[in-house]
Amino acid sequence: MTFATRFAPSPTGPLHLGHAYSAILAHDMARAAGGLFHLRIDDIDQSRARREWDAQIRDDLAWLGLTWDSPVERQSTHFGSYRAAIDALAARGLAYPCSCTRRDIEAAASAPQEGAPQFGPDGRIYPGTCRGRPMSGARDSDAIRLDLSRCTAPELAFTETGPAHAGTHIVTLDALKRDVGDPVLARPNMAASYHLSIVLDDAAQGITHVVRGEDLFEATWIQRLLQHLLDLPTPTYHHHALIRDDTGKRLAKRDDARAIARYRDEGATPADIRRMVGL
Ligand code: GLU
Repeated sequence: MTFATRFAPSPTGPLHLGHAYSAILAHDMARAAGGLFHLRIDDIDQSRARREWDAQIRDDLAWLGLTWDSPVERQSTHFGSYRAAIDALAARGLAYPCSCTRRDIEAAASAPQEGAPQFGPDGRIYPGTCRGRPMSGARDSDAIRLDLSRCTAPELAFTETGPAHAGTHIVTLDALKRDVGDPVLARPNMAASYHLSIVLDDAAQGITHVVRGEDLFEATWIQRLLQHLLDLPTPTYHHHALIRDDTGKRLAKRDDARAIARYRDEGATPADIRRMVGL
């Protein structure tokens, strides 16, 4: 299979040094392997996505010297495939609508079993309040969740090549139930959750290697289960270290000071950016 990777930014702010690192690393890995590098704009959250960021992102990546091997994909054109996947899971009795607000979840989870974790990679572990609600009663204001108690799965493996967690990892349903809780498949007014959208898109684009920041390592557990349930291939994962500011804090979209566009304006070259991120 041809090595294929992608950079998949959300167009909700400027690219900063952390994005540049992720994009250059993925691009260089693809080129070194004689493979493909794709650019996907993850604009699933239409309330926050902006066309001007989309344009700026492509401009910054081209300035960095990156080239991509297919027309730019946009998640906003894939809503039909997300809907079909949710319908397929619902038809198997694995999905339910959930009307719980953050506050409801907090209140219901306020008396946890002793020793049980309260937070997982997807935030507070959902206590299952809406489990069993029929999909026919779903309202626009509901989220859709995956019912882990009705899923069946063998031990699921994935391979990680990033520095912090290199090796083979095993995901089990028991661990997901304990450490994650019923994952969200779609948020209110959004076609799909981050997890569902990217496993579908990565499979559709033939992505063999997912290169992304270490903060998403644990998200892989949920994504691995979704791949199993939807009969999708599992890529190899490479979670890289995060670029941090001088105080050790990871860079965020609002760190305009570290925006690539700002460095460009100040006369930096693409080689300077590579040096700054240690490449
Ligand atoms: N759009 C996601 C992000 O910007 C992609 C993450 C991923 O690579 O899975 O965080």
